Amino acid sequence: MKNQNNQQHIIIFGAPGAGKGTHADLIAKRYGMVHLSTGDLLRKEVAEQTPLGKFVQKELDQGNLVADEIVIEMVEKAITGTDRNCILDGFPRTVAQAKALDEMMKRTGQHIRCVLSIEVPREELILRLEQRSLISHRSDDNEATILHRLIEYETKSKNVIDYYKADGRLVPVDASDSIENTQKNIRNALSQL
Ligand code: AMP
Repeated sequence: MKNQNNQQHIIIFGAPGAGKGTHADLIAKRYGMVHLSTGDLLRKEVAEQTPLGKFVQKELDQGNLVADEIVIEMVEKAITGTDRNCILDGFPRTVAQAKALDEMMKRTGQHIRCVLSIEVPREELILRLEQRSLISHRSDDNEATILHRLIEYETKSKNVIDYYKADGRLVPVDASDSIENTQKNIRNALSQL
């Protein structure tokens, strides 16, 4: 296990289609961080048909959240395997995951610097997901699953916002405009921390 002290991670939080992956990539490149996407890690397991991949495949295909214990263990392995700062994309997605992450940070002497909550109106999310489904090869980018993923977000993930709002770590960012303008909003927000 590497020496993790002083590591400061950023969470990028938002609904499916808000642009978490795109913005996490740009932030990671700009600030030399590791882009840690639980969705990408899980899709890799599925593509390689590992035992874990076979176990979670149905959940991903149907747009259900994978069990907390599985993603928590995956994130802990990834975070403790690097001594760089990470941008967490797609995690935490439940309050139980957020609490487990805080416990992990405390135990390893690391910190969550802030939670960028990228905000996009629901109608725009649906439009973006529909457009993405035309070009992506993701098994969950199809009409039926798009709506289900939004409902999973609204019922299980959205309250993560209140968890971080309560202790002042939440940084809301308007992400309804172009990628460039949203990046500007993110950089402004980060420079004010
Ligand atoms: P994403 O690429 O972030 O949209 O995630 C794709 C899918 O991976 C989700 O619909 C879930 O099935 C699964 N997934 C990713 N991250 C998590 C998480 N933190 N908790 C539970 N399931 C997750």
